[in-house]
Amino acid sequence: MSAQRRAEIVGAGFAGLAAACALAQRGWRVRVHERGTVLRTAGAGIYIYENGLRVLQALGAYDDAVAGAHIAHTREVRDDRNRVLSVHRWDTSKSRVFSIVRQTVINALAAAAQRAGAEIVTGSTARSATADGELLLENGERLTADLIVGADGVNSVVRDGLGLVRMRRRLPDGAIRMLIEQRPDEPNFAQPGVTIEYWSGSRRILFTPCSETEIYIALTMLDRDEPAKRVPVDKTEWTRSFPHLAALIAQFGEEGRYDAFELIKLKRWSAGRVAVLGDAAHAQPPNIGQGAGCGMMNGLALAVHLEQTGDVVAGLAAWEHNERPLTEHTQRVSYLLGIPTTWPPLLRNAALGLAGRSKWIVNQRIKTALHHPTGTA
Ligand SMILES: Cc1cc2nc3c(=O)[nH]c(=O)nc-3n(C[C@H](O)[C@H](O)[C@H](O)COP(=O)(O)OP(=O)(O)OC[C@H]3O[C@@H](n4cnc5c(N)ncnc54)[C@H](O)[C@@H]3O)c2cc1C
Repeated sequence: MSAQRRAEIVGAGFAGLAAACALAQRGWRVRVHERGTVLRTAGAGIYIYENGLRVLQALGAYDDAVAGAHIAHTREVRDDRNRVLSVHRWDTSKSRVFSIVRQTVINALAAAAQRAGAEIVTGSTARSATADGELLLENGERLTADLIVGADGVNSVVRDGLGLVRMRRRLPDGAIRMLIEQRPDEPNFAQPGVTIEYWSGSRRILFTPCSETEIYIALTMLDRDEPAKRVPVDKTEWTRSFPHLAALIAQFGEEGRYDAFELIKLKRWSAGRVAVLGDAAHAQPPNIGQGAGCGMMNGLALAVHLEQTGDVVAGLAAWEHNERPLTEHTQRVSYLLGIPTTWPPLLRNAALGLAGRSKWIVNQRIKTALHHPTGTA
């Protein structure tokens, strides 16, 4: 190919940074526009499964991303009387999963993208893009490129300006996420690698040690449960639901953020020279922890397909054709596993127990994790 191809990417999250790194590694001139003044990710901790770890390895970001993180090996689900409903043990010899502080992964991806030559511009907000490859910024600047990537999250302006949304559904539940300090002197039963999901009514506390010093806490609840979704967390309210976790809840700080879960599907993942990627294209509830995994897989795959096909429009069509089925499977499984959240506790406990025991359901659930993503060895 003669001239260096140019990509303008909107959004320095998991998806945008993975795409930036993979494109730059394949000879593209890449610039990432991030509206934040620093690269800061919300959401505290994250699970990255084997598929996402393979992408991080292919991008050269793996070592930095997992430094100090725990390999997760066991996930327990417990009811409101602290009885174990199901235990899932990951076979970490076949498929690894790490629980990691989110910011560590973002920093690792950004560093890998910059090492590959990508430029990251913070404080740069996109307003819209056109199918023929023009990106309009909030400051009035107009940039032209061979490829524009909208990786600007659930409220993507790049996607919305192109009329690509087929379905956007706000789901009945959401979560508050935070990190708390791990104190060895506190009786908080933190065992490295063991995640515990405590249920009480429709409320849930997900407890995940994610570094030597930090525990990732996700509180999930129905979106209509106003007292439970208050930030800062109403500790009295949560202790009422989980009296046996009073010592843990007492450690919650003022920080935290509430997000309602969403499901997004597009008519197409691209329009002309504009690709839409990550949550902007395929947001999903976090029930199997694969939203960022899919975003990173699709970011790497985008660059691989464009390398194989000189023509951008044809490359984007091939990319969607190959990658979309697995992403849609992941969205479907994650959505279906979230349905029991709204059921009465007895029925829900039975469903969660079955979901943990049924080989077929477990296989559907881990299919994405076991996938060898495009562009990985
Ligand atoms: C409770 C919860 C738990 C989750 N747990 C997991 C998990 O364990 N594992 C997992 O894989 N996934 C998980 N996810 C999903 C994961 O968080 C998302 O899929 C992932 O963050 C999406 O990455 P993204 O890069 O597409 O978008 P984002 O992370 O939203 O990044 C978008 C970026 O674009 C920037 N931006 C937005 N608009 C503009 C603009 N106009 N101009 C410039 N920049 C812009 C934003 O500032 C942001 O930096 C979870 C989600 C939730 C809600």
